[in-house]
Amino acid sequence: MQKKFRYTTIELIQGDITEEKVDAIVNAANEKLIGGGGVDGAIRKAGGEEVTKECDIIRARQGGCPTGKAVITTGGNLPAEYIIHTVGPVWQGGDAGEPELLASCYKESIALAVKNGLYSIAFPSISTGVYGYPTEKAAKIALQTIRDLAENADRMPTLVQFVLFDDATFGCYTDALSNL
Ligand code: ADP
Repeated sequence: MQKKFRYTTIELIQGDITEEKVDAIVNAANEKLIGGGGVDGAIRKAGGEEVTKECDIIRARQGGCPTGKAVITTGGNLPAEYIIHTVGPVWQGGDAGEPELLASCYKESIALAVKNGLYSIAFPSISTGVYGYPTEKAAKIALQTIRDLAENADRMPTLVQFVLFDDATFGCYTDALSNL
């Protein structure tokens, strides 16, 4: 499924983000930029040691990446040229700034893509795995944030994909995009 907002196409696909041939894929990382499970584990495994090396350099320089922010590394052995690592909020019930922090992940990732002159970017469903963010709520925030950027930003990637791993997540994003 896809929808276009001004110059940007938002596309939903079900699959494995490590296989996407876009300028950058986004990783749902942790604040220490130390490899975890889930999509982080899959991306690091497919990206290889160059990715881990660059994450280690960023950690040594600035201590990692705070929640809601993003950093960029090479894509290593991935088909994607770059990985943008962003740190989603851990769900704590919804009153601890989670919606704003989650929106910030998408904004900061897009800002890094634009800064690096990238045209296509693929996101996973940030925070809805181990970090426990309810997927229905997260899908709305993810898609509204990208739609608002597409409608208002001076520069914006022309393709923003969401690569959803499982049926339930894909369903939530499909509903949210249909209602956008
Ligand atoms: P977080 O810690 O931000 O919650 P997780 O990696 O635990 O991140 O989960 C985020 C989402 O990524 C979940 O929906 C999970 O099913 C999904 N996921 C796991 N592996 C992949 C993959 N290879 N490609 C795309 N999505 C994936």
